[in-house]
Amino acid sequence: MKIGILALQGAVREHRDMLRRLGVETVDVLNPDDLDGIDGLILPGGESTTVGKLLVRYNLLSPIVELGHKGLPVFGVCTGLILLSKHINNSEQYRLGLMDTYVERNAFGRQLASFEADMIIPVLGASPFHTVFIRAPYIEKSGDRCKILLSYRDKIIFAEQDNLLAAAFHPELTDDTRIHEYFLSKIH
Ligand code: GLN
Repeated sequence: MKIGILALQGAVREHRDMLRRLGVETVDVLNPDDLDGIDGLILPGGESTTVGKLLVRYNLLSPIVELGHKGLPVFGVCTGLILLSKHINNSEQYRLGLMDTYVERNAFGRQLASFEADMIIPVLGASPFHTVFIRAPYIEKSGDRCKILLSYRDKIIFAEQDNLLAAAFHPELTDDTRIHEYFLSKIH
């Protein structure tokens, strides 16, 4: 199994380290060729307007959209969640637009720009997951095909739609591998 990690900007190394701990081969994705033969793709956190522009400049936007439509498992974290979304409130920024969601950026208010909390995520079992939020977005609403995996203060922060998985928080910044394992379980 080989997982691509979009490496245009952001928290690439942390995802790489986590996947290696799970014994999974990774490839940094910087060019369309890097997408060849991958079994899944991670879109790390960063700054979504910048990453969107770079996706266009490096000719990666259309190939990733195409792979997403064909069923490639894609996991978007924070900026990745924004890029996966079809709708971004009050923004025309570039996006992949694969997920039937409405996203609000930088959405937890100034005093909550960054915070951490232990949360029980039912699909991961009974033991709480340590969630780390950094200028995080949330999903305001989603279409019927989208399954909500976790909400916090009535905001959707973890969701999946068929081959797509999106988290508003950063599982790669913890030692807990369960969310990455959950993503890998989507690969057949
Ligand atoms: N606020 C950032 C954005 O809009 C996301 C922050 C993150 O990925 N940690 O892209």
